[in-house]
Amino acid sequence: MHAKPTIRAIYCIGRNFGAHARELGNAVPASPVVFLKSPSAIRGPGETGKIAYPDETFHHEVELVLHIGSSPAAGEKNLIRRVDQIALGLDLTRREVQNRLKKEGLPWTEAKSFKGAAVLSSFIPVNHQGNPAEILARLEASDFTLWVNGDKRQHGSPREMTFNLESLLATINDSHGLFPGDIIYTGTPEGVGPLRVGDGFRLELNLDGKCVINEEGTL
Ligand code: MG
Repeated sequence: MHAKPTIRAIYCIGRNFGAHARELGNAVPASPVVFLKSPSAIRGPGETGKIAYPDETFHHEVELVLHIGSSPAAGEKNLIRRVDQIALGLDLTRREVQNRLKKEGLPWTEAKSFKGAAVLSSFIPVNHQGNPAEILARLEASDFTLWVNGDKRQHGSPREMTFNLESLLATINDSHGLFPGDIIYTGTPEGVGPLRVGDGFRLELNLDGKCVINEEGTL
């Protein structure tokens, strides 16, 4: 277990896997779709009992989460070097609420940001050996899986993303700047489905040919 870092802003990327965009009837976007969750939504590894709307059924979205360790200089490229830790997360979603908000042209906040909506595993350090292209290639070769009550529900890899990790970092840096403690949920693969309080889940991340995160929790 590694210490939980202090978290500043939570950026999330929507529709970054083509098959997931299509499963919800959305077009694959021409540029990254960015939204925010409040830091009050964080639910750390092993935490229980902290969730708003405990009687509702949520949708799980398993995602690779990047943590920013330091701010880039003006005009800096290769922002992947500023990612010091990674984790897996669940972007919990009130899907029916989101569908209503989408239909009404309203912001998604009520559907995406609430107590417990940003589930996180432990963070692990990124090995920064090699040049930025090599670091990016190693992260892109990772893969992650979500099990719910013992059933495999979602599996994905950053290499399947419409917008790669470097372009997500550049998009957020251009609009907001990147600061120590910012985290980015980088998008979910296909297979989103129901998750209720009391369901057991397991998050697994393989990196550099090894299982580096394997954590169980109960919503
Ligand atoms: Mg998501």
